[in-house]
Amino acid sequence: MKCLLVDGWRRLSAPACRLCAASGAGPLCTACVESLPWNDCACERCAQPLSTMQRLCARCQRRAPPYDHAGASFRLEAPIQQMIYGLKSHARLDNAELLAQLMTSAHPAFVDEHCLLVPVPLFRHRLRRRGYNQALELARRLARRLQLRCDGLAVTQVRASRDLTRLDRPARRREVRGAYTVDPARVRGQALVLVDDVMTTGATVESISRLCRQAGAASISVWTAARTP
Ligand SMILES: [Zn+2]
Ligand SMILES: [Zn+2]
Repeated sequence: MKCLLVDGWRRLSAPACRLCAASGAGPLCTACVESLPWNDCACERCAQPLSTMQRLCARCQRRAPPYDHAGASFRLEAPIQQMIYGLKSHARLDNAELLAQLMTSAHPAFVDEHCLLVPVPLFRHRLRRRGYNQALELARRLARRLQLRCDGLAVTQVRASRDLTRLDRPARRREVRGAYTVDPARVRGQALVLVDDVMTTGATVESISRLCRQAGAASISVWTAARTP
């Protein structure tokens, strides 16, 4: 009787699945985890979601990006899109915890014990307004779960850039040029993994990758929670 009571209480007090409300299965139940938009069919180089099983996307076939590999755990679709929006715009840091948990459950092969996680930085004005950098929140949690090193000071944003979401690819490239700086002492010889919440055209991580290459990084990869198709 006592065991039944304890068990029943545990079920009542354990959080429900955030998506289907299955009791005691929180934060996400197995069925909901399986139905997430995992980015399983993607370009091996830039993580662009692909509709057919091919190794590289058309763009990477023409010209390789300046980083070695990119991995995105999810396609930017519901409910991941809402989780990221909550993290970015409504200080839902519990979403960073959940995303980190999901991302580390099936992480890319280039994420190993030698790598150094480096979050994509925010410009100080935006950081002051928001109070936190979602990429750093994510990187810290990924590092803690996988027992990796994380360096939030290796890359700094030195110039504000406009909101990139409305710009096309050439405009994004112009916008991010000269916006970042890298501390060579922190990246030289390191196997870097740049961490961000979302990768869209990749203009930001491409710009940072070029700087890290010049600064002597041993390898540069990119790991984001989601990738836009
Ligand atoms: Zn569920
Ligand atoms: Zn590609």
